[in-house]
Amino acid sequence: MANLVGKTYKSLYFKKLTLVIIPDTTQSVVRFRISHLSAYIAAACFSLLMLISISIYIVHAHTLKQASDLQSKLSGANQKWSATVTSKDAAIEQLQNEVIQLSQQAEQMKSQVEEVKKLESDLKSIAGIDPGPSNTAVASASTGGKTNTDTKELSDDVTDSTASTGVGGSPNPVSQEVILKLGQDTLASFTALTGEVKELQTNLTATKQKVAVQQQQLRITPTLWPTMTKVVTSPFGYRTDPFTKIPSYHSGIDFGAHENDPVFATADGTVVSTGKDIYHGNNIVIEHSKGLRTWYMHLNKILVNKGDSVEKGSTIGLVGSTGRSTGAHLHYEVLKNGESVDPKPYLKSIRKDDN
Ligand SMILES: [Zn+2]
Repeated sequence: MANLVGKTYKSLYFKKLTLVIIPDTTQSVVRFRISHLSAYIAAACFSLLMLISISIYIVHAHTLKQASDLQSKLSGANQKWSATVTSKDAAIEQLQNEVIQLSQQAEQMKSQVEEVKKLESDLKSIAGIDPGPSNTAVASASTGGKTNTDTKELSDDVTDSTASTGVGGSPNPVSQEVILKLGQDTLASFTALTGEVKELQTNLTATKQKVAVQQQQLRITPTLWPTMTKVVTSPFGYRTDPFTKIPSYHSGIDFGAHENDPVFATADGTVVSTGKDIYHGNNIVIEHSKGLRTWYMHLNKILVNKGDSVEKGSTIGLVGSTGRSTGAHLHYEVLKNGESVDPKPYLKSIRKDDN
């Protein structure tokens, strides 16, 4: 085997190829003699060189394409990023404006809460319930004078439909830190307002109950004048008796009403007695609450029956001059635990529809 290879090698080495180069007719021909082996090696080297060159070209072309693709992708990503940044900027700007609007709303809400507090206080005053110092203190502590005033002014501007809508001023853009602080302050304001609204809700519920109790109390308290007239012909207390002319005690008030004028129940209650005797004439007793009664005497006519429920201001009888009387009038008494007391402090209103 080794012998065969050696023979082949020798054959390739000793066989020669002649290469002839003919430049032109004036110059001599150049001849090269090379062995077959050298020719094969040269051809192999040339083929290898070509192969390497082609490979390099392919790799280069591939790299160029990849670079182009990457550049294209980078360009697209860059555009997207720019669009995203622009979009984010717009979103941030919008959020900042919303923070400012929320801040203004918080101020308006503060003002409105204060107005509701004031209404509650007024309601208590009207109803005669002690408003108490706590509400006023809370109101002033929670707003702070200037802010409240500013908010009121702002609120007035907003609610005035006839006001011009023109606005202006120098451009003073605020920094992100300022907006951030405004947002935090607004959040704190809303949190505080939530607490205040809850407290207000509790207070209003309590006030409503107090007003209801008071209204009920008012309905059963004889604050109404029993006749349309305010003319008092004889007050409560000591006087000269109109019949005997001797000093005596007058246990009620005489109203100088005309005969058959309506007599009103001075409070809600129940008729506990109706009757007639030589002193009181036709008379009615109404019980309003435990221990408090009213007594109407000398009536020409009784329009209710014992056991009837009567409402404040309802007509229970007509003025007359029955019993021990010198002329048409209403003798009216208020009895507290069975004792006659001066009705005058109770009398608040002359008209039956005016409690
Ligand atoms: Zn009298």
